[in-house]
Amino acid sequence: MTLDSLPGAPSGEVAVERPAPGRPHAGKVFAAVQAHADDISFFCAGTIAKLIAEGYTGYLIQTTNDDKCGPTPSLGETILSNERDVAVLAGALGLKQVFNLGYRNHFLDGESPLELRCRLIFLFRLLKVDTVLTFNPWGFGERNPDHWVTGQAVAAASWMAGMDKDYPEHFAAGLERHSVREWYYWVARGGQPFNRVVDVSEHVETMVAAMSANKAQGPAGSTGSRLKERLAARDLRLPELDGDDGTDETADRQYIRLFMLDDYRELGRAYGVDCAEAFYYMGPKGTSRVDEYIARHAVPLR
Ligand SMILES: [Zn+2]
Repeated sequence: MTLDSLPGAPSGEVAVERPAPGRPHAGKVFAAVQAHADDISFFCAGTIAKLIAEGYTGYLIQTTNDDKCGPTPSLGETILSNERDVAVLAGALGLKQVFNLGYRNHFLDGESPLELRCRLIFLFRLLKVDTVLTFNPWGFGERNPDHWVTGQAVAAASWMAGMDKDYPEHFAAGLERHSVREWYYWVARGGQPFNRVVDVSEHVETMVAAMSANKAQGPAGSTGSRLKERLAARDLRLPELDGDDGTDETADRQYIRLFMLDDYRELGRAYGVDCAEAFYYMGPKGTSRVDEYIARHAVPLR
């Protein structure tokens, strides 16, 4: 992923989701489904922090093993370093559990769509997932097959998990059908639509921690400390990177605060808040016309 993605393209009337008092989402469950270790960090870390603060329980599902993106030539070490980063990311965001599905990086479009969908249906039923955050399944401008395949599998599994004839052996094993009711499709590329911006101003430091977790890949995780090293080789120093304690972790986080938050702040400014993330959101439609008609016209049977 890259940050050329924000702020995307407004679609219709854009709603601003503001911080909600109390814990209005207590008892609800979301799954953030990413293809790669660094997706969630850039697309929805602030929103995840907000939803958990408002009562949600959150899970992370990752479809690929990231074997192509890491600091060493070894595929095995690359997988392991990304897997460790994702565990740190989940801890920083307060997610309850991580499920690594382990498909090969960049090749998700060659995997069985039915197997991926079945695995997601199992997890949505097991975890009783009400809400998903993931890639837009019809993502305009998307060039990474791992992204659109992940989004499409999540979209299909979301409603099939609520059907009573799909994978009946799940019910024999004690699971119940369970439909996803809300979708937050994040903006991964410029031009992708959004109809909701989430005010994440209170969660900027969690976003910084999430971006910093991705040491193995991505444009943020260890960039600050590497820049500090390169400058030192030229007998130079950026005092802002040193922070209070001069550690590598501080340099990484200071770099993110200095250079990686501009798009989120620009999007926020456009909608009257300090910092925001954009989504194409779909949720419950409210009362149907039939229900309204019944409420107005139904009379007692006898
Ligand atoms: Zn990605």
